Order: sequence, then structure tokens, then C-alpha cells
Amino acid sequence: MSRRIVAILVAAGNGTRAGGTRPKQFATLAGRPMVAHSYEALVCHPAIRKTIVVADPALAAEMLPGASIVAGGATRRESVARGLDTATTAGATHVLVHDAARPFLAATVIDAVVAALDTHDGAIPVLPVADTLAFGCDMLGDTVDRAALVRVQTPQGFRIDILQAAHAGWPPELEATDDAQMVRRLGGRIALVQGDAMLEKVTYPEDFAAAEARLAMETRTAMGFDVHRLEAGVELWLGGVLIPHDKGLSGHSDADVALHALTDALLGTIAAGDIGTHFPPSDPQWKGADSARFLRHAADLIAARGGRIDFVDLTIVCEAPKIGPHRAAMTARIADLLALSPDRVSVKATTTERLGFTGRGEGIAAQAVATVRVPR
Ligand code: MG
Repeated sequence: MSRRIVAILVAAGNGTRAGGTRPKQFATLAGRPMVAHSYEALVCHPAIRKTIVVADPALAAEMLPGASIVAGGATRRESVARGLDTATTAGATHVLVHDAARPFLAATVIDAVVAALDTHDGAIPVLPVADTLAFGCDMLGDTVDRAALVRVQTPQGFRIDILQAAHAGWPPELEATDDAQMVRRLGGRIALVQGDAMLEKVTYPEDFAAAEARLAMETRTAMGFDVHRLEAGVELWLGGVLIPHDKGLSGHSDADVALHALTDALLGTIAAGDIGTHFPPSDPQWKGADSARFLRHAADLIAARGGRIDFVDLTIVCEAPKIGPHRAAMTARIADLLALSPDRVSVKATTTERLGFTGRGEGIAAQAVATVRVPR
């Protein structure tokens, strides 16, 4: 019989030990609800045919649009049982039960659990215990042989028939801490596979901070380039600053060539097109617009992806005006717009030795490079 593996993502707990008002699995972690991280890992894994989320239906529908949601029970065991019923209806031969409080689920862990189900009734990821353990009620008492202990993680994989039998036969007065414990009670053969330090449970406020730090962010660098024509009788806005000069830059917006180059560099880091994609010159509402708005929009898009801007570097190319006297004001303005400290904003200028359109004073060019980190 061919296998049909269904994942059950348990997100029904109402734990608020992490602080905040909503259950921790819906709190924001690395820019997204915690539950969204492992949900995506399960949905994207090729061996998993369907993912069922057991949670408060209203919260889960808000956080995971389009997900298959089952209302949770009063206890974890009840919640898993409800997920199992739905998985059975969905034709599952095997299930993977995963806790939403373990958000960073690598495909390699899923691979290992799924592979072990070829030869076992169940499979669970584990890690060795590194710390010395002692019975807490007697600090001077016996220590525990840690070689015999493992830290048990999820996702835990099982044949669905044996897990359903384990749930059906479980004494209602006992609370089970995990599904492997229930299957072992029936004599099921459980494989131990390699767990992952990234899979640790996120419970307390300090866990959130550590998880944010552990989360693999990828660094991306992108550039932007822009040119605008200099014309008499126009204000000169450059780097977000109004500069007294006999000419100004012309264009549909305020034509701040430096902020435009920076905006394109930032959009480039998330492959979100260019400034014209978001603010078409054909749209009259952007006539004379403050380019600060464009820059903020690019920064907001990066923030919405859970990204962070690390650094921006700008080079303005012109014969006149002299940029030096305005450099500090530009740096401060850009830092303010991007919510960066000024030491993360570099403003440079050069001439082209009187060569070309910038050398003849016909226009100003700018190029920018932005470095950001975004969640993988
Ligand atoms: Mg432009």
C-alpha cells in the first residue's frame, strides 16, 4: 500500500508564559507568527500530502489563510486526537505530529523521521543531554546518568492505526506529554532519529530572543542607479535635503536622485521591482511627491518580510553643488527615514572631472548599494 503522510500541527495551547496577550504560538517571531514558520516547513515538504492545523479556528484562520484548521481540545492529547480523526478522513496511512512551539523545522529532520517509518511503527527526533541533571527536590541528592537520557523533540511520526489505538486505549485520568510515550505503552517500536538544536521549544521571553538570534537570516546586497536633469528655476532636493543652488532636479516627483537610487537598492534586496513598479510616473498622484515617501515604502516592504536593513551606501555624482557641506544633513535625514543609526548610512560624492553630462552640469547621477538581512 502506498503511503500517505499527513502532518498535524498542534497549535491549540493557550500558554502565555512568553508574555503577551495571545498564545505564544501566534506571537511574532522573526517577523511572522511563530506557527507560520513550522507550517510552511510542513506544507513545503514533498513527502507530506496534507497539513492539518489544530488551533483556535479564528486565530489560525487569521494567521494562516487557506490552512486546513481543526478546533483544538482541552488538552494536548485531545487536540492530537481531533487532528487524527481529520487525518483518517483525509486517507492518511501515517501522521507527523508537530508542536507549533518548535518553529524552526528543517526538512532534514522531516526526511529522517519519514525514512525511519519504513521500518518502525514510529520515529522521533532526539538530542543528547549535555547538562548534568539532578533531582530538583534534593539539590545534594543523586545525579542522573545523562548517557541514558535524550531530549525528545517533534515532529513525531507514526503509523496512523497504531497512534489511534494508543489514543483510544489511553487512561483518561493520565496526561501524556507526547505521542511516542502513548505508542510505547502499546509496545510499538519507535526509532530515534537525529534531532536538531534549532528545534528547541520556544516558551519564555528569553527563548524568543534566542530564537531570533539563532534564526538563519540571509544577507542580500543590491544596487540602485538614477539620473535626473538639472534645470533652472527648480528646487534642488538631494538626499532628502533642500539645497540652495541655482538649478534643481526635474522629474515627476521631487526628483531626488539620491533617494531614488537608495529606494531601488532597497527594493532590489527583496526582488520587489523598482521605484517605477510601485510609483508609476504615469500616475498623477506622484507629481511633485516627496521622495522620502518612496524610500519609506521600500523600508516598510523589507520590514514586512521580517528583514532588517544593515547598511546603505550612496554615491552622488555631480560637479555642483558641493556635497560636503550637506553630507551630515543627508546622512541624518536618511538614517531617520530608515530608522538606522547614522553609522549605518554612508553618503559619498564624486565628480566626473568635467566629463559627460554630470561634468557639464546637465544632470546629477546617484548610485546606491544596500545590504539587508531577510529570513530564509
Ligand atoms: Mg528617479
